[in-house]
Amino acid sequence: KDSMENYKFKAHTSKVMEIIVNSIYSNKDIFLRELISNASDALNKLRFLSLTDSSILGEGDNQLLEILIDIDEEKRILNIRDRGLGMTKKDLTEKIGKIAESGSKDFIDKLQKKDDSIIGQFGVGFYSVFLVADEVTIYTKHYSEDEQDQLIWKCNVSIEDGNENIQSGYTVSVDPRGNTLGRGTTISLHIKEGEQYDKYLKHVKLQKLIEKYSRFIDFPIYLWKSEWEDIEVTATESDDDQEEEQSIGTESEEEKEQEEEEEEEEEEEEKVEKEKKTKIEQVERWKWVLMNKQKAIWTRPKNEITEDEYNEFYRLISKNNEDPFIYTHFIAEGDVEFKSILFIPGTIPFGSFERFNPKIKSVKLYVRRVFITDNFMDELVPQYLAFLVGVVDGDNLPLNLSREQLQKHVLLKKIKKMITKKTIAMFKKLLVVKDLDDEDALEQRDKFWEIYGTNLKVGALEEKDATIKKRIRELLRFKTSKSGDDSITLDEYIERMDENQKKILYIGGTNSKVLMSSPHLEKVLKKDWEVIFCTDPIDEYLFLAFRDEKYKGYEVSDMSKESIDVKEISEKEKKKIEELEEEHSYLLDWFKEIGGDQIDKVRFSKKLIDSPCVVSTKDFGVSARMERILKNQAL
Ligand code: ADP
Ligand code: MG
Repeated sequence: KDSMENYKFKAHTSKVMEIIVNSIYSNKDIFLRELISNASDALNKLRFLSLTDSSILGEGDNQLLEILIDIDEEKRILNIRDRGLGMTKKDLTEKIGKIAESGSKDFIDKLQKKDDSIIGQFGVGFYSVFLVADEVTIYTKHYSEDEQDQLIWKCNVSIEDGNENIQSGYTVSVDPRGNTLGRGTTISLHIKEGEQYDKYLKHVKLQKLIEKYSRFIDFPIYLWKSEWEDIEVTATESDDDQEEEQSIGTESEEEKEQEEEEEEEEEEEEKVEKEKKTKIEQVERWKWVLMNKQKAIWTRPKNEITEDEYNEFYRLISKNNEDPFIYTHFIAEGDVEFKSILFIPGTIPFGSFERFNPKIKSVKLYVRRVFITDNFMDELVPQYLAFLVGVVDGDNLPLNLSREQLQKHVLLKKIKKMITKKTIAMFKKLLVVKDLDDEDALEQRDKFWEIYGTNLKVGALEEKDATIKKRIRELLRFKTSKSGDDSITLDEYIERMDENQKKILYIGGTNSKVLMSSPHLEKVLKKDWEVIFCTDPIDEYLFLAFRDEKYKGYEVSDMSKESIDVKEISEKEKKKIEELEEEHSYLLDWFKEIGGDQIDKVRFSKKLIDSPCVVSTKDFGVSARMERILKNQAL
């Protein structure tokens, strides 16, 4: 008792816990998934450490990397135990006591909107225990020899005026019983009173939850439960039967036919007797029952895995409740060998900048089934694909390197390239619709493009590999002066270009409607030429890149630039313009005078039909719209 220390939660933590505890709507079931996933993380970390120092695994039962779950219905206790790496006092006060490190404000907002898919994504996992428990005790023993003490962390929820309140703190003390765990952590929950919570003390419910959420966990999960076991019972009257048999046998020795008949009869009787002997009785026994098969899904043959299994696996690793948009499961062979399953999420649950955040950690690296890290995002996946979810299991990566050494390994580069290619292939599958009557596919395509278009455009700019970059560029979609609500690719654009048109024409602006009436386009639209509308700020960056690199040999032309008309006209027309400019030089000079420094040049234009004049930007340099975008970014 003397060694008990009291700690207070940080303000944020209290707030989040309060919301969790009082959240009526939230799916309470997920607490088990969170605890099992923490247990699995702790086991993974231990297994990783043991690669370089096998003594860490210890001896006897400690070597069993497993998760054990048991309940005491009467006392309303549910225990989840792992033989993972355990926690130090510092871990208990800094890791358990802390919540939603990054973006906690965002988190609170979302939680208040009762968006429960968010629990887990923000690392609030552990606190989901308060959805079902009013007292939580952690018993833990760290693997390190410097940490001799087994520790107890305790926190309870009190009920005041019918409202549940998290106490403002928790206690940490040394376990007076000494080291009972060997190594690892037991999370012990006292399940809240009330009918709706009773189910969390029943095997059936727990078994269902484990099957639903945790079947792909790498470590064996055992549930302490009663099993009805078949026991063979030998029939007692078997001795009498034998006597009868013998008497039948002695009576029938005379004729062969009869003998045969009797033999058959004998066989019959033997059968009956056997059945009697194998009479079974069921006996109830309590034992640890294995709940999951834990054969890594990516190692199984594709044709034996159902779509449902893929989706469930996705939900497990993404902690997302929806199905993915699309997935790919492949084996790479050659100088780099690995197996991988990659998913593109159905939605991006986080903010628009987060989609490029390499810290999202959703691609997990394994080496021969051993989890190494999910912190290699940059090394495994280009930033523009940061939303990707999946696993990569390398066959010929060295296991006994430190993370830092592994991080620099040449094979990682090759893996990254392969992942990128496979992901772009998934993009292609969804974005290239061959049958234009297939409305579902078209709808999918548009939805997909709306979510991931920006990422792909960034890829079209940033990808270093020329082949991949080319593939990405072919998938990009743009609105045009002819596309209406639809969008087209650059290849489609080229295909329907006017035969006199040599360049890809584009213009930047806020939306198609405004651009359709732009004076810059009067002439080309009259000619019925198509113009690409760069309505997304990144579009113009893309066309700047095309200006330098061309698109499949085609030059691009910004319609808001000054000389676009001049270049397209004949010598005769050019001469006529020169004459006109001479004749009306006083007018041109007058305009220039009014504009002062703001104006570079005033001249006659062939761009216009109805409008009297138009302001164009200089050929070299950024467009007016680009300048606005750049200015906004600088702010
Ligand atoms: P996350 O798992 O996303 O880090 P959690 O709230 O689920 O967030 O857990 C917080 C931290 O508490 C973990 O990162 C880990 O350091 C520690 N922790 C939780 N459960 C265990 C456990 N069973 N064994 C060891 N450490 C644990
Ligand atoms: Mg967790």
